Amino acid sequence: MRRVAFHNLGCKVNAYETEAMLQQLEQKGYEIVSFEETADIYVINTCTVTSIADRKSRQMLHRARKKNPDALVVAVGCYVQADKARAEADTAVDLVIGNDQKSRLAELIETHANATLDINATRSYESLHISRSTGHTRAFLKIQDGCNQFCSYCLIPYVRGRVRSRQPENIYEEAARLAENGCREIVLTGIHLSSYGCDFDGAPMGEHLKDLILRMAEIPQLSRIRLGSLEPRVITREFAEALRDCGKICPHFHLSLQSGCDATLKRMNRKYTSAEYAEKCRLLREVFEHPAITTDVIVGFPGETEEEFEQTRAYLEELALYEMHIFKYSVREGTRAASMPDQVPEPEKTRRSAILLEMSRRHSEEFRAWYEGKNVELLLEEEITQDGEPVYVGHTREYIRGTVPAGDHHAGEVVVIKAEGLTAAMDL
Ligand code: SF4
Repeated sequence: MRRVAFHNLGCKVNAYETEAMLQQLEQKGYEIVSFEETADIYVINTCTVTSIADRKSRQMLHRARKKNPDALVVAVGCYVQADKARAEADTAVDLVIGNDQKSRLAELIETHANATLDINATRSYESLHISRSTGHTRAFLKIQDGCNQFCSYCLIPYVRGRVRSRQPENIYEEAARLAENGCREIVLTGIHLSSYGCDFDGAPMGEHLKDLILRMAEIPQLSRIRLGSLEPRVITREFAEALRDCGKICPHFHLSLQSGCDATLKRMNRKYTSAEYAEKCRLLREVFEHPAITTDVIVGFPGETEEEFEQTRAYLEELALYEMHIFKYSVREGTRAASMPDQVPEPEKTRRSAILLEMSRRHSEEFRAWYEGKNVELLLEEEITQDGEPVYVGHTREYIRGTVPAGDHHAGEVVVIKAEGLTAAMDL
């Protein structure tokens, strides 16, 4: 038996794929050990979303080599796909495996063969499976890969290829299997989730996603379905009402905004206006009671003047979302934004980021304060020690973190508690 350790970097799609690769090797008889241990094989599922992600990917590959100079070090995923030559030339790396080759991991390890595809020519969804999740109670379920949007700052379409969707039957079977194995909440993930099914036929955006959610809601053991990042355009009244009526959808919607200024959105090649985005938030707030709407914002995008930033600031102040991920724009070579004029100096990006972070903290507190004294539903996940006492930690449907004294509780149980001092939890 050979000992293998995994390390994951990046998004939830990567996390799902790492889990699938781990279970693939486990089934082949490999022993899975933690990354901190000495292993015979190290598999690092890399990320390239920013230059920092590239650097972290390289660092982890070198850390693995240092842990065991005789180990087989395998570099997998987006960083490899973006710069195959560099990964192959890296002395810390033995094997280079690009995207859409992860289902072949065991075979490639056995044959000691590198494998990367022309991802932009790939049209079929790579089949990967999991039958349980590390967290047991909540599982990420990948249903889609690739992106056709080509936002001007983003490298992802070049390393993940075009939209490829997983067949609904296949997703349903995996969801049912996870639920049978104790999972109570499923988080649907994809590189561009809103495009799910657009490669099946010409159905409008959201149509196949809605049908899939309604089907999954019929799985009796499943209590909750949560959605990963959505494109605002997918939200229509029909979509929102159908989701609400299925009874299992979490009213927690991550709608990527990126900027509240229309001129900036245009340069970013985002395909909605700030007014359309605000309208989608209004619609969600009408259909769901106090939904948690979260977002991503990029500050210091090339050409973002003080006036443009001020538009974004004022817009977000008014919108008052539950939480915001604030990113300082970072150049990705090979994207259109990298060569745009008027790049914003780093200290200015830091200043703008601090302003929005302060706002995010304030809005998050206000959002959570609304629940004080009200009954909320917690899905219990794991027992931890808090202030010396054993407690169970869980999340509400809106993804707010709460705890209950451990008592006779168990993971996977749904309890209703009176909300008191709920804390933010945007670690999905
Ligand atoms: S929607 Fe835009 S930001 Fe998101 S993966 Fe696609 S190109 Fe990148």
